[in-house]
Amino acid sequence: MLLSAHLDTVEPGRGINPSLDGDTLRSDGTTILGGDCKAGLAIVLEALACVAESNGPHRAVEVAFSRHEEGGLVGVRHMDFSLLAAKTGIVLDGEGAPNRITVSAPSQNVVTAEIVGRAAHAGLEPENGLSALLVTADILTRLPLGRIDAETTANIGWMEGGLKRNIVPERAELDGEFRSRSNDKLAWLELQFRKVFHETAARYPDARISLDIRNTYQAFRIEPQHESISTIGNALQHLGLSPVLEASGGGSDANVFIERGITALPVGIGVRSFHTTWETALIPEVLQAAEMCHAAIMSVDGS
Ligand SMILES: [Zn+2]
Repeated sequence: MLLSAHLDTVEPGRGINPSLDGDTLRSDGTTILGGDCKAGLAIVLEALACVAESNGPHRAVEVAFSRHEEGGLVGVRHMDFSLLAAKTGIVLDGEGAPNRITVSAPSQNVVTAEIVGRAAHAGLEPENGLSALLVTADILTRLPLGRIDAETTANIGWMEGGLKRNIVPERAELDGEFRSRSNDKLAWLELQFRKVFHETAARYPDARISLDIRNTYQAFRIEPQHESISTIGNALQHLGLSPVLEASGGGSDANVFIERGITALPVGIGVRSFHTTWETALIPEVLQAAEMCHAAIMSVDGS
């Protein structure tokens, strides 16, 4: 089986000053804690140390630590999969308690666009300009955004454009994404996005609009009777915990592992509020996750 976690963290994540408040580890509030995914790394190392101490029969274990997960699963995509023989596994990168197993996650498409209008002096000849910002705003207000349905979301997360106060803005750029756990809905949403851009281009024939939509990761949905789930479930039962199977709105390295034939599922690492300055790690849950991994590795033939 495979155990995996990622090595990178999000910003602001430099000069972290962690402190223990009872059982809860948190930052001083100026940075993230970085429990995502340092708790995951600690869990894998602790589980391996426990296996070494147990000195009994156990499954063959492979460990894969990825880089640049937060930037779009970049590291795992460049992993040398010929080095991995595992077909099942655990990705230590889920929020909350270790009995939370992600069994379904969305596909993501990334949307980038460049809008080029025409610059002109804003005071002398504005009628000769075509505002790229105005065209972009027109696009933004027509795109289907936010929560589309229970398993589908869309967001434009960044836009930039213009140069100076007194120049009709010539250029603007957009960066966004949409996701769904259903690939049919993902395809439908891609059509809606393309339609809005095409219609806007028709309304502004002098504008040049280039749109790029590409898939970054593929959805998965694992059946409850799958071996990966029963291995984790049995290990949890050793600790007196019952598994909770969850659908997620986010992607992780698991999407790529599963695409590549390794059913490695995200489980909770005792960390909450990922990517915030109020992120916490609950030490007893971090230890439970390590015990769970230990138990899973020691279970031979699914026992
Ligand atoms: Zn993470």
